[in-house]
Amino acid sequence: MKYEAVIGLEIHSELKTNTKIFCGCATTFGAEQNTHVCPVCLGLPGVLPVVNRRVVEFAIKAGIALNCTINKFSKFDRKNYYYPDLPKNFQTSQYDLPIAEHGYVDIETEQGKKRIRITRIHMEEDAGKLVHSGTTIKDSAASNVDYNRTGVPLIEIVSEPDMSTPQEARAYMEKIKSILEYIDVSNCRMEEGNLRADLNISLRPAGTKELGTKAEMKNINSFKAVEDALTYEIERQEEILEDGGHIVQETRTWDPNRGVTLSMRTKETAQDYRYMPEPDLVPIITTDEEIEAYRKGLPELPDARQARLEEKFGLSSYDAGIITSSRDMAEYFDAVVAEGADPKLAANWMMGDLSKNLNSEGKEIKDSPVDAKRLGKMIQLIEKGTISSKIGKEVFKTMWESPDDPEKIIKDKGLVQITDTKEIEAIVDSVIAANPKPVADYKSGNKKAIGALVGQIMKQTRGKANPQLVNQLLAQKLDQ
Ligand SMILES: [Zn+2]
Repeated sequence: MKYEAVIGLEIHSELKTNTKIFCGCATTFGAEQNTHVCPVCLGLPGVLPVVNRRVVEFAIKAGIALNCTINKFSKFDRKNYYYPDLPKNFQTSQYDLPIAEHGYVDIETEQGKKRIRITRIHMEEDAGKLVHSGTTIKDSAASNVDYNRTGVPLIEIVSEPDMSTPQEARAYMEKIKSILEYIDVSNCRMEEGNLRADLNISLRPAGTKELGTKAEMKNINSFKAVEDALTYEIERQEEILEDGGHIVQETRTWDPNRGVTLSMRTKETAQDYRYMPEPDLVPIITTDEEIEAYRKGLPELPDARQARLEEKFGLSSYDAGIITSSRDMAEYFDAVVAEGADPKLAANWMMGDLSKNLNSEGKEIKDSPVDAKRLGKMIQLIEKGTISSKIGKEVFKTMWESPDDPEKIIKDKGLVQITDTKEIEAIVDSVIAANPKPVADYKSGNKKAIGALVGQIMKQTRGKANPQLVNQLLAQKLDQ
């Protein structure tokens, strides 16, 4: 490729406080329009905001978890712009003294680990929402403004333009989501807009240092859309540059249905917003003791947890990465292992049958019908040889639909593995006698022909014969 992409993300994450950032209104999602509002969040004259201490706590925790420096003196500023969903005509945000700065996260890329620097994290209030009568603003006769979301607390996490592919941008956003979930400061429900990203992208001739003109795409709220929108935008900008054209600095919107980005407006600069200090709020002073107390209160984070699973249990970095990608999944794994199951088998079952079933029913792991205890027990039965792993699949399926313990299912269905040599030997003999063709093939050197015989034996025993024993006995008899 002649050009390389330079990508930076601004991720907005709604914090999971019960009340809004500057008033006592509830933050609950999906309530009837304009029922969670008061004079403060409606920006009526004469009201005074008071900062929600929880918001500061969550922002500091996010800062620590994302390896930032926490600013001990931080303040709010007004970002001035006009839009119907913004009743005050300014958004209370932070400008030159954000709560946290200079952090980083590490992501996995095809070339190995890559560090993405975080410029800053600031606190701000969310705006309201326009509810159009049609599907888009263009085909609507009218639009309502819902102010329920006005004043819901957000943190904005701004990265340096350190990413160079759509895949890296996705991995970065996944990592941020995972960390915010671990520290329990955001629900990160992307479909509800809890976590959304503005993507900045420009191209420059490969190997050069100077940044090109960037385009911004706002409010992208799925990982797939992050990848797709950036992929499209790289192609679009590449075509313009190849034809000798210039990129216009602008805000574009991603249309997932058509798979294209469209121009919305030329991009504002900081001057356009006329930032000014917020006179109604006192600065936020944080002490070393507070920061230390928050640091101590944080749980084991994904990277540390992944390293522990690799070192302690010998999981591959890939497996450990998947298991620790969400806190719920990591805790489920620990519980399966605590039950006495082999860690590698536990990882295999979680990434195999468990994930498959959860995905097909659109369930989260915390709602899994098979809990860690029963899966742990079942894995131990496989380890002991009571059932084969093939029968394990059947037991797992039954557990998914019933609350029974694996032992009971195995007993009720008569699934105990046949490990009696005499019993298997008899079946092996009869299968050899009944299948002269594969036997002859095997004896004339086609060792693969043994597969057909194994298949016959497993069929006759309904999968219950111990596979190692079957293979061993069969080879013994055929090689005689
Ligand atoms: Zn309010």
